[in-house]
Amino acid sequence: MHELAICQALLDQVESIAAERKAHCVTSIIVGIGPLSGVEAQLLQNAYTIASAGTVAENAELVIDQMPVRVKCTQCGSESDTLPNKLICKQCGDWRTTLVSGDELMLLKVELEKQMKNEK
Ligand SMILES: [Zn+2]
Repeated sequence: MHELAICQALLDQVESIAAERKAHCVTSIIVGIGPLSGVEAQLLQNAYTIASAGTVAENAELVIDQMPVRVKCTQCGSESDTLPNKLICKQCGDWRTTLVSGDELMLLKVELEKQMKNEK
């Protein structure tokens, strides 16, 4: 499963960040997903629940931010936000564009907790 592998890679990053900052647990993980990344937000959420079990991020909330699709025009040089199924330049309407963003999946932010709130 594609999403599970992605989650495991994300959790590897999260775990090393948590270890580096000596955090007890992770409260939330914010990831950015471009519409062209081929990743379904819902599937990622489901996979995350499975992948995070037993890790430092077990109780963390996974927040998914949808990233905009952005193209750069090879004709007029301007950058514009566009739709995933319509990669054309907003300025001149040319289709000869290159993708600036929209196909990425990245870890944007990790929120950590250093002390347990209710220490037993
Ligand atoms: Zn253009």
